[in-house]
Amino acid sequence: MKTSLYSNTKQQPARRKHIPQRTCVACRGTKANRELIRLVNNAGTVEIDPQRKKQGRGAYLCPFAQCWESGLKGNYLEHALRTKLTPEVRHTLAEFGKSLPER
Ligand SMILES: [Zn+2]
Repeated sequence: MKTSLYSNTKQQPARRKHIPQRTCVACRGTKANRELIRLVNNAGTVEIDPQRKKQGRGAYLCPFAQCWESGLKGNYLEHALRTKLTPEVRHTLAEFGKSLPER
């Protein structure tokens, strides 16, 4: 029996839950929010935001080494986050990117 499917649809027909989509700043690929890694501009300091909850301008990258490398190399991250990456941050992000799998 499938009666429960329609039991609580008083005004709207049943529809799929909306999944927020985000764009990787390096490859411009669109993915579900949770499939990308968020970075945040926290008062001028760029941090990785695994919980996706920090305040500030955010940017997203695929969890692949390739996107982190090109995101740093092409300054896509700086552009998306509207800040300059310090050499320390750049190094941290590059190292993190190297820990990720290739595509
Ligand atoms: Zn990507």
